[in-house]
Amino acid sequence: MTSPAWPLAVPEPKPGCATCAHLCQLRRQAQATGDGSATSDANVRLRRHFAEDHSDT
Ligand SMILES: [Zn+2]
Repeated sequence: MTSPAWPLAVPEPKPGCATCAHLCQLRRQAQATGDGSATSDANVRLRRHFAEDHSDT
């Protein structure tokens, strides 16, 4: 296994999906401020959003 940037894989944001864009923005902001708990929170929300709204892939 290689070392991933995230503890768990986080999917690529879907083009045109406002929720993906919003959550990725939150994650970028959290990373920029070095807020690890906010970063993992954003990752969790992204993965849950994908499971609920993009489960076709
Ligand atoms: Zn989405």
